[in-house]
This record gives sequence, C-alpha cells and structure tokens, in this order.
Amino acid sequence: MEVTRKKKIVKTIRIDVDKCNGCRACEVICSSFHATPKYSSNNPERSRIRVIHYPLRDLYVPVYAGEYVAAECAGRGMYTIDGKEYDECAFCRASCPSRDLFKEPDSGLPLKCDMCESDPTLSEPMCVQWCLADALIYEEREEEVEEGETLEEIEIGLEAMAHKFGWQKLLDTASRMSKKD
Ligand code: SF4
Ligand code: SF4
Repeated sequence: MEVTRKKKIVKTIRIDVDKCNGCRACEVICSSFHATPKYSSNNPERSRIRVIHYPLRDLYVPVYAGEYVAAECAGRGMYTIDGKEYDECAFCRASCPSRDLFKEPDSGLPLKCDMCESDPTLSEPMCVQWCLADALIYEEREEEVEEGETLEEIEIGLEAMAHKFGWQKLLDTASRMSKKD
C-alpha cells in the first residue's frame, strides 16, 4: 500500500533554565487563558505549565504538560544538577497516575499543553508572551508525517484516557465544558 506523506508544523517551546527567575507568570496566564469564561480566574493547578521550585538552590525549571500516560513508567531517572540529586519524576512532562501534576483539579482529567491553538490569532503562545525573562522560546519546524498519523495519535490518547477514567466521565466532562462555552 502506498503511504501518503504530508508536511506538518511541529511547535515547541525551548526552555532556558538559566534565565527563569521563578516568577510563575507563565502559570498564571496559562490557567487564566484557559479558564471558562476566558480570563475569569487563575489557578496554577489548572496551568499546563508548572515551575518546579528549588529556591534554596536558586533553581527554577518550567515544565509544560505533555501526553497523558495510562501507567507509571517502569524505569525512572535521577537528576544531578549542580551536585544535588533531584526527585526522579520532578521534570517529567507526562500526566501520569503516580502524581497530581497536570491534572484538572475538579475532574482529575489530564491537562496537556495545546500551544494555545484554541486561539488562532495568537502570534506566540501566551506563556511565551508573558515570560519577560525570555526563558521560554517559541519555535516551529516542519516535519513529514504519514497521512492519518495525527488522527491515530488522538484515537490512542482517547482510548488510554477512557481506560483510566471511563467513557462516561469523559463524555460528562465534554458536555459540561461545551455548556460553559
Ligand atoms: S514566566 Fe518565565 S521567568 Fe517566570 S517562571 Fe515562567 S518561565 Fe520562569
Ligand atoms: S503554550 Fe499555551 S497551553 Fe501551553 S503551557 Fe503555554 S500558555 Fe499553556
């Protein structure tokens, strides 16, 4: 079977940890931008970017939410930075059953960074715009993918979430969100 390939823009945020000062403006704007109605509230626990704090070492690491995973990973890494060991899960981007990070506080459903695609008028993601220290750098690159790959990724993600939370909970949440819109 002939495989059709198409171009896809991959959006990323490069993080310059040396420049982050831990102000948490990125958390505030992300949660506020994604509130319903938009800008009606802010709560870092709803943010899709979190700043891991180690103030005594003057270390702040912004981490933005990646994919939902249905199970804890089997192998975990330890981080040694500036001679100090850090929690093995501290800088992971996954919404994972083993911790509360990147979960919607009311429903427990996973949060994932959407690069603020919900608003096509944005020139850059909101957290990047609000980071006055220039620690977040928005980048785009073009990649070739197989036709249908994106849809497949969405289907796998939905299946994994349904396995964990059940279809009814997903449907109830979607229905609640659409009513608020
Ligand atoms: S807004 Fe920038 S400097 Fe402030 S915590 Fe976020 S990444 Fe760090
Ligand atoms: S890109 Fe948008 S959705 Fe992703 S962390 Fe930044 S503000 Fe939140």
